[in-house]
Amino acid sequence: MPIYEYHCNECGHNFEYLVLGGSRPDQCPACEAGEVCRLMSTCGFVSKGSGGQTVSASASSTSCTGCSASSCAGCGH
Ligand SMILES: [Zn+2]
Repeated sequence: MPIYEYHCNECGHNFEYLVLGGSRPDQCPACEAGEVCRLMSTCGFVSKGSGGQTVSASASSTSCTGCSASSCAGCGH
């Protein structure tokens, strides 16, 4: 079963979600916000181990192709 890592754009909580039959989390388990973003390479995800530096796409108005959020500002974390 594929397990994907998601990031909450609301509270910054990262969590893993077991994807069953193409389902996906509708909300953050920590704050129950709906602004969750899947952490994938297609989302501009930068590893947390690479110098501790993250790249934010918040300045861009383009949507992330790897997540359902309108903004992918949280995906760089
Ligand atoms: Zn949250």
